[in-house]
Parts: sequence; C-alpha cells; structure tokens
Amino acid sequence: MSTPRRLLARLRELMARGAAPLPELVRLVAAEFVCEVCSIYVMRPGDLLELAATEGLLLSAVGQTRLRVGEGIVGLAAATHAPLNLPDAQNHPAFAYRPETGEEKYASMLAVPVRRAGRTLGVLAVQNRAPRRYDADEVEVLETVAMLLAEILSVAGSVVADPEGLAATLPRRFGGTHLADGLAIGPAVVTGPARGPLRLLAEDPAAEQARLEAAVASMQRGIDTLIAGGLPQGEGADSAASREILDAYRMVAAGTGWLQRVADAIRGGLSAEAAVHRVAGDLRERMRRVTDPYLRERLADLEDMVGRLLDALDGAAARPPVPPGGILLTRRLGPAELLDWHGRGIAGAVIEEGSAASHATILARALGIPVLGGARGVVEAASPDDLVVLDADEDQVILRPEQEVLQVYARDLAVRNERRAGWAQLRDRPAATRDGTRVRLMLNIGLAMELGQLEATGAEGIGLFRTEIAMLAHGGMLDVAEQAAIYARVLDAAGDRPVLFRTLDLGGDKLLPGGAVPEEENPAMGWRSLRIGLDRPALMRRQLRALLLAAGGRDLSVMFPMVATVAEFRAATALLRAEAAKMRPAPGRLAVGTMLEIPALMWQLPALLAEADFISVGTNDLLQFLFAADRGTPALAGRYDLLSPPVLALLADLAAQCAASGVPLSVCGEHASRPLDALAMIGLGITSLSMPASFVLPMKAMLGGLDLGLLRAFLAQLRATAGGSPSLREPLAAWAREHDVAI
Ligand code: PEP
Ligand code: MG
Repeated sequence: MSTPRRLLARLRELMARGAAPLPELVRLVAAEFVCEVCSIYVMRPGDLLELAATEGLLLSAVGQTRLRVGEGIVGLAAATHAPLNLPDAQNHPAFAYRPETGEEKYASMLAVPVRRAGRTLGVLAVQNRAPRRYDADEVEVLETVAMLLAEILSVAGSVVADPEGLAATLPRRFGGTHLADGLAIGPAVVTGPARGPLRLLAEDPAAEQARLEAAVASMQRGIDTLIAGGLPQGEGADSAASREILDAYRMVAAGTGWLQRVADAIRGGLSAEAAVHRVAGDLRERMRRVTDPYLRERLADLEDMVGRLLDALDGAAARPPVPPGGILLTRRLGPAELLDWHGRGIAGAVIEEGSAASHATILARALGIPVLGGARGVVEAASPDDLVVLDADEDQVILRPEQEVLQVYARDLAVRNERRAGWAQLRDRPAATRDGTRVRLMLNIGLAMELGQLEATGAEGIGLFRTEIAMLAHGGMLDVAEQAAIYARVLDAAGDRPVLFRTLDLGGDKLLPGGAVPEEENPAMGWRSLRIGLDRPALMRRQLRALLLAAGGRDLSVMFPMVATVAEFRAATALLRAEAAKMRPAPGRLAVGTMLEIPALMWQLPALLAEADFISVGTNDLLQFLFAADRGTPALAGRYDLLSPPVLALLADLAAQCAASGVPLSVCGEHASRPLDALAMIGLGITSLSMPASFVLPMKAMLGGLDLGLLRAFLAQLRATAGGSPSLREPLAAWAREHDVAI
C-alpha cells in the first residue's frame, strides 16, 4: 500500500475509535510522513495560533507557544490560506523564533492551513533537519490530513479549538460601507464556500468513482435543462452571448482537468464528496490570487458548480430553510443569488467583497433590505445562528452583541417599525406639500417581481425601469419574446400609470457574463450603454421591437441612457420610430425621452428640448461626470454633494428651461430618494421624482410637513450667499429641522 493510502487508512482507524487525540495524530503523521516534527497549532480567541500537539518539538511548549495570525511561518500559512513549503524556514523573512520549542535544529518546514467552511481552525506543520523542498505528492498528502484534522477540530468544537468557549461567544464588531441603508437584527445565515463533507474516507475507490461519474452526469443534465430554459434561439448577439456563458459554464463543469484531479484524490482514499472539496479548495485559493476580473468571476461559477455537484452526490437538492429574519453573511453575492435568498426570507446581507455599484447592491436597495459591504473577516468569525445586528446606516455589523447594545438596537428597530406603520397610512394620500403643491412620486424598478410595489406604495407610475437588470439577474441576454413578456407584465401591472422604460444600460460596472467587452482604462466613461446600442443597432432594434410588441397598441414611453449629444438622441429615436412604423398594432402615444447624465447635454438644451418628449436626470452618473469622481470609489463617497452651489445651479437652470419649453422633467438618480436632496430639488421646481419603493412613503411624510413657499425663499437666499461653499447641506438640514420637516 502506498504511503498516502496507508496513512489515510490508519487515520480512518484512529477516527473510528472516537475523538482522535491530537498527540496520536501527530505521532502517526510523523511516522508515516517520515519527518522529524509534526505539530498542530489550533486557533484560539483573539486570532492566536497555539501549539496544541507536537511530535518532535519540546512537549513543554504545548499550550505555551502562541503565534498571531500573520506571525511566523505558521501564522503566515494561516493568514494567506496557502501552504508554505520552505527548505530553509529559519531564513524566511516571516520566521519567528520560539526558543521554548527547540525548533532551531530543523531547517525545512511545510505548513498547511487547516480550514473548514471558509474558516481557519489551525495549522498543521511538519519539519525536517535536512534542508529540502517537499514534493507535490507530500504537499497533497499533508493537505488531505489537514482536511481530516479540520473535521476533528470542528467536531470537537470548543473543546479542542477553544477551551474557554470564548471565540464563539465574544461580541465582535466589523466596520464596512453601507451599500443599502437600514437596520436589521436576526440570526446569522453564514454561507461558506461549500459545506464540509460528511464522509471523508472511503474504502472502495471504484465505488466512489462511480458515484462521482453519476453525479457529474446528473449535474450536467441539470445544467442543460437550466440553460435550455433560457437560451435564446437563432443567430445574433443574444444567442452568441448566451452560448458563451453556456460554454464557459460547461467548460468548468465538464473540465477534464479538475475532474481528473478529483478522480486522483478518490484513488488516494477520499470519498467522492471529500475529493470534490479538496480539489475545489485548491482551485479556489489559486483563483483568489488572480486579479483579472473576468477570471475572478469564474470563481463564482466554480462555487456554484461545487454546490451543484455536492447536491447531486448526496441527492439533496433542497436548501436548508432560512430562520425568520436571518441576516446573510457571505463573501460574494450575485444579483440572482440575492433574489433567491430574499425569496427565502433574509432581512439583510453583509457582503465581504460587495461594492456600492454592484448589481446585488442595486437590487438590495430596490428590495429595501440593508446591505453592508467590505466587512472583511465577518464570515470567518460568525457561526450559524449567532445573533447579528446589521447597522448599515452606521457602516457596521455586530456579531453576538452585548445585551445592553442589543437592547438599544431593538428599541431603535421598534421605533423604525412604528414609523413605517405610520407611513403605511399615507399610501392612499396624494403626495403634496403642506401648501398644496403636488409632487409626482414614481418608482425605480428593474424586475417584474417588484411590480407589487406600485400598489403597496401608491406610487404614480414607474419613472425608471432599468431593462438591463432582468438580463443581469438572468445572467445573459434575453431574446425578443422573453423581453417582450417582461415589458408586457410591467405595462399590465401599471395599467393607466406611466412607465418610462430605459433602454439597455450595460457596460461600466454592469457586465453580462460572457458579454465581450474590450478592456478599458475607464469603463464608466467607455464603450457602454447607448454607445453600444448605436454601434450594435441589431441588438438595440431587438429591444425596441420587444418594447413595441409589449405595448401592443398601448402608449409607450422609452428613454435612452448616457446620451452625450443631440445627434445620438436623434439616431436612437430614429431607430425607435423606424421599428414603430413597422409594428402592428402601432403603439398609442409614443413618447421618446432622454436621461440627462452627461453634463455636455446642458449646453445643447435648446435643440434637445425641441425634440425630446421628456427628460429624466440620472444624478448618479451626472455627479460622477460633473465632479470627475467615480461613483464606485468608496474613498470619494460623500466628498461631492448634490446640495452644492454648482449642482443646484445646474438643476435650477435645467428646471427653468424645461418649464419654458413645456418638457416634463423628473429626477431618477438615487438622490431623488434622499429626503433633504429631494426637498432642495422640489424647491428648485422639480416636482417629479423617481426612487426605489422603500423611499416613497417616507417621502410623502416629508412633503406633508413642507411649506414650499417658505423653502423657496430660504433656498434663494441661501444660494445667493453661498459664496464658494462646497455644500449647503448643513444650513438646509437646520432649516428643515427648525420647520419640523421629517428629513
Ligand atoms: C443614474 O445614473 O443616476 C441612473 C439613474 O442610472 P444608473 O444608476 O442605472 O446608472
Ligand atoms: Mg446612469
């Protein structure tokens, strides 16, 4: 029997006897591995790695020697999640000498992190006197032992890894960036890379290989069915893009490379599940170091794939239920996954690698659930069902809060819920200021499933339907019939209320998987949105046709994003009108408008207003271009303000010119949903605002307390005396508070 097989067989015997004592385990590994030292370091509270068992180092060091994560070779392996294979460990820059261990005699060292479900539980290390580099097989064997050790440590749980049970009970706070505002309190729903395998070792490799092959076949059938349901037929960009996604996905699924390695691991004595975990873990770590965003996206595919394969292996397709009000803690999250979790009842999410402009973030805002991004380490630190306070408003998440802290937050949540209940009564009241000016409040949505929000909020229509969101959630282009079905549902639900459909706004941060987009230095200012549409008119025509089909003779309003010149607006309008001329039944009234997101349009207003039926200001993009400040860069968040003299001057000028030419003006950027910003815009004469559903009722509440006459006078005087101030937020907020306006 080969060394690895014999070692695994003996480990199996050891584990079968019950809780495997760590000293026996290190003795066994040292003997079979032919090394002079084998040591286990386990994670203690405070991110300390403590020597818990050793064969070869001085036993008096057990329980004494401690290294911080990142300190010494052991700490470095824990911090980087990667094995360190060093012929001359003592001359490595990270080496930390611990005289009590007597380790000065040993030159070479191989340290492997012990990880399970995304958490580091410890480090397994072997050492030899002679300087040598351990070969690939040896590294693999030690990684397999580390995987077994992870099971032992996690089964033993607090007894082995945390003698005082402290790590799992201490409160921990993590800072982050609010991606969607709000407060939620609930049990943690932790998603690791994948769950740990139940059965690690198997006696019959042939049987395991057969199980693997059956599972791969079943997984591939599942993928085919999934894709058959969504793959557009025919030629052209839609089909090409979908096929690319399909190919990429299938390539990973059928990839002989990684399945071969799984088969090797099975031959080495692992169960099929354990072998999948083992190989996927390696790939995951390798991909994590890749910086190319496209390749990193494949990481999500891989994780999805591993989950599907494990489902196929244990025959369990059903996911465990989410506890009521659960808060999702995860490393990454795609828009489709967020929808899935939302459907299952989560009340908020913490995404370690989430960014403000990500699709999941946009969706979370639409769904009205708080989301925090950038809270690194939270997934590792949390256990399922730990109580979590997600305070996105204050950019933090608290695990296992102290009782007093919890009480404060619970009170705050109760007050918010009460306020929300009060807002509910505003649903059927018209949105108007105290002195009687009507303000039109509309919804920003992107998915048919959000349509119920029209009734729930009493909004007057849909001021922005982001057509690209459905494609992002779907993970690829939709064909004409699929698009038309979505748009028709939107029009059906809206009834007499207006809907402003925005044509595809892809590119920038909104990339479809498989959609070939050239590498660009500044994608936000690159080949995106309408620019792609005008250069790929076939793609754009298909969308316009879908919109006209959906209208089926009803009125239709279409607007174009990222318009920089009147000529672009004309070209896009011409495409729409040409399609409309061919469509039977012809649409009722066809209104064609533009987003105002690129400052250059401000100096083309006379020509634009002569041709556009309406204008909607996209403040998210407008501000980023006006101040040359990337909307997705956290360091710039809040640095430039809508409530600053230049932006207010621009909006005042725009409102005046639109009013003079009788062209309806609305604002649909995120600023329209912020009460104080909205207040200022209403003061400038903009009385149509479009926002995510969760903001409509609080906005009505704000309006009900606002005396527009008083505000106008104050705003005029404030602007006249602003004199170079970067923001008028403070004085405006003070005015609102003084006048009891709920901002
Ligand atoms: C905007 O730019 O303000 C806007 C509404 O468009 P998006 O956020 O979809 O870019
Ligand atoms: Mg925009």
